[in-house]
Amino acid sequence: MDDFELSCKGLYRALTIREVRAPLAFQRFPNTPSQFLCKIEGEQWKPEDQVLPVFTPLPKPGEDPFCTKDFPPNLGYVAHAASADKHQPLNHPGPDLVTFIDDMNFLIALIAQGLTKTYTHRHLKFLMSKFNVHEMLNEMEEMKELKKNAHRDFYNSRKVDTHIHAAACMNQKHLLCFIKKSYHVDADRVVHVLKGKEVTMKELFASLNLDGQYFRYMYLKYVFEIQNTILYFVFEILCIFVFSKYIKYFVPVNLFIRVLIYLLTPSSLRFVSLQVTGFDSVDDESKHSGHMFSTKSPKPEEWDIMPFIMCCVFVVSRERGMNTFQFRPHCGEAGAVTHLLACFMTADNISHGLNLKKSPVLQCLYYLAQVPIAMSSLSNNSLFLEYNKNPLLDFHNKGLVISLSTDDPMQFHYTKEPLMEEYAIAAQVFKLSTCDMCEIARNSVLQSGLSAEEKIYFLGLFSNYLKDGPEGNGIRKTNMAQIRMAYRYETLCYELNLIREGVIAD
Ligand SMILES: [Zn+2]
Repeated sequence: MDDFELSCKGLYRALTIREVRAPLAFQRFPNTPSQFLCKIEGEQWKPEDQVLPVFTPLPKPGEDPFCTKDFPPNLGYVAHAASADKHQPLNHPGPDLVTFIDDMNFLIALIAQGLTKTYTHRHLKFLMSKFNVHEMLNEMEEMKELKKNAHRDFYNSRKVDTHIHAAACMNQKHLLCFIKKSYHVDADRVVHVLKGKEVTMKELFASLNLDGQYFRYMYLKYVFEIQNTILYFVFEILCIFVFSKYIKYFVPVNLFIRVLIYLLTPSSLRFVSLQVTGFDSVDDESKHSGHMFSTKSPKPEEWDIMPFIMCCVFVVSRERGMNTFQFRPHCGEAGAVTHLLACFMTADNISHGLNLKKSPVLQCLYYLAQVPIAMSSLSNNSLFLEYNKNPLLDFHNKGLVISLSTDDPMQFHYTKEPLMEEYAIAAQVFKLSTCDMCEIARNSVLQSGLSAEEKIYFLGLFSNYLKDGPEGNGIRKTNMAQIRMAYRYETLCYELNLIREGVIAD
């Protein structure tokens, strides 16, 4: 077997690892790579085999969002905080721990293997050059196509903020207005007890300590303000739930059991099924990343705080009649490269992904499997990586599925529309064209936890938005050029086909 075949076989097995695991957790695996894998295996690809996440559509006007009439019957499931006892209530199909570790060890070996590194490095470089040539030849054509698209531009095509923390979702102006207003109307309120002495807001003001009650107030004000901004939807990570059609929530994995208990009351169940669409890891993935996971690792209940990869293994999936809970962790921001590897096996999509820069093999795999990545370059600029060194443009040009997100507007943004600020700065620094921006905006809607109805409304073409290539692009809604869609599709097919040729060569 020559080098080329060896690399292709490795990449092929890596892709099948994700393909096999995805449907078990009700996560997405795109059609095009799936069709190529079927071809390699000599099987017929059937559209009905694809698994799609289910998100509850918004209540219709006049409908009660908390109505529980059409709920699936109570089947008497019991949630256990520790591992299930001998009355095991439900047996979810899924690869066992030994298979997981086996697959993980294979991927660890693959990303370190010289031959595969060279192969993927070359191909990523090729993808970059190919995109540059595409732009040189077709930039004007793309622009012409978009000019002909009446009543649609970047500003009125839909964008979703795919990663934003509730704790810092307000902008600095919100905070300042809140502080000023509170000081005027409520200065004598006792807000703190210091060594047995009650302290009023006036007295405490110098230190500016905001407590949970104030956070809730500010948060509600924020929700109220975005209700008036129709340009984008916002997705949240944290546990203060407010019912709003503009918000979907992600819950940190460590709060999962609390949410399960919350689920046991019918009206909360309805609420969760409308608003919660996924789980995240802990905010700072670098904190618990040292442990190398193996069969000898301590069991989940023996850890105070589980290491990152372990969290990925034990995230639970969807039961009939409710929302799919997607796993969308912080990954590749500050943690080890192995986190990106674990998420390639387990997550529907990830936030940040900066460290893909360090591993050509993983970068190539994220491209081939079209795993969506929510990137926050302004946040990275403050914390980890200078803006001009951010791999956003590099990833986008190569064809990785990138969306833009704000992370923590309170800390990183200056304007009232942080998501537009994020887009505007990326456009200026990286010289993105309208077509690039619209492509990123379209990716954000696809990546999000919006229901199928909403996606159809924002992307057009009925359920065709699920199709790959120009067929799946409703240009009237997305304002993304069909020439670009065709380029992305053909390039992906070309790369997948190369792998197929390598695998079936002998
Ligand atoms: Zn974050």
